[in-house]
Amino acid sequence: MQSFLPIAYFQNQFVPFGEAKISIATHALHYGTGALGGLRGIPHPQDSQQILLFRLDRHCQRLSNSARFLHYDLPADKIQSVIVEFVKRNQPTASFYIRPFVYTSGLGIAPRLHSIEKDLFVYGLELQDYLSAEGVSCRISSWYRQEDRSMPLRGKISAAYITSALAKTEAAESGFDEAILLNSQGKVSEASGMNIFIVRNERLITPGFDQDILEGITRDSVIKIASDLGIETIERPVDRTELLIADEVFLCGTAAKIVPVKTLENYQLSRQNTVTRKLQEKLIAITEGREPKYQDWVYSIAIS
Ligand code: PMP
Repeated sequence: MQSFLPIAYFQNQFVPFGEAKISIATHALHYGTGALGGLRGIPHPQDSQQILLFRLDRHCQRLSNSARFLHYDLPADKIQSVIVEFVKRNQPTASFYIRPFVYTSGLGIAPRLHSIEKDLFVYGLELQDYLSAEGVSCRISSWYRQEDRSMPLRGKISAAYITSALAKTEAAESGFDEAILLNSQGKVSEASGMNIFIVRNERLITPGFDQDILEGITRDSVIKIASDLGIETIERPVDRTELLIADEVFLCGTAAKIVPVKTLENYQLSRQNTVTRKLQEKLIAITEGREPKYQDWVYSIAIS
């Protein structure tokens, strides 16, 4: 059972979660003309009256960019002030996930982005681990990641998640935890809701922005953390066969954090995951406010 935070932001107001309801004729419901955000927050481990949000500014900027694709002018600052107030009103007591959503909120048919109202809502839920931090089994999906020329993949457009959903369910129904999607060129793109890295000879390799990936904020964080640890990252196309011979493979995203891939299509991958574990621990320490060097990445909200 999911535990939703009690207060939602809906139609420019804060209301009880159960009262935030939309009509069945809502345009975005029919055409996938929405875009989502997703960020994590935790009570400070030493002071539960302080809530820490990881890279709030980047999440707000990406949602604002996604809104732009929907012809909705919604500044990142506005999203940020709504989220801060949302957290203050909810006073979360455990690890949680915030889901802001922008969408064509008007009623009626005909796919379009002009001449239709848009809106922002925000709700939250308690969320511990999304995938096992110990590691996951993956398959290569028979579904391909969409191409950027068909859909703005740099934003989290809701319509794009049909492919993630197909891939995730295909993986689950064939006995795997997660799916890795190739792009239309047959190169590795990303997982159903995470970016992917491999480790070879102590260096990270990850598909670049020309490989139809989401501009993942955890991906960006991993590259910076690795660099600070003296680990180089190369952004280049990755073949599926390279996954099988990599020293380590891991997935990363806001919900999942950093998760090693233990097996791929029943091939056993590295059992050591030395580099992955190092990055995983560092990322967790940063999100918990234990790394002064990265304090710019952690937005603190006093809730008392
Ligand atoms: N790719 C997709 C398709 C996603 O949904 C996500 C989760 N937002 C990611 C990658 C990882 O992005 P982030 O690190 O910003 O959460």
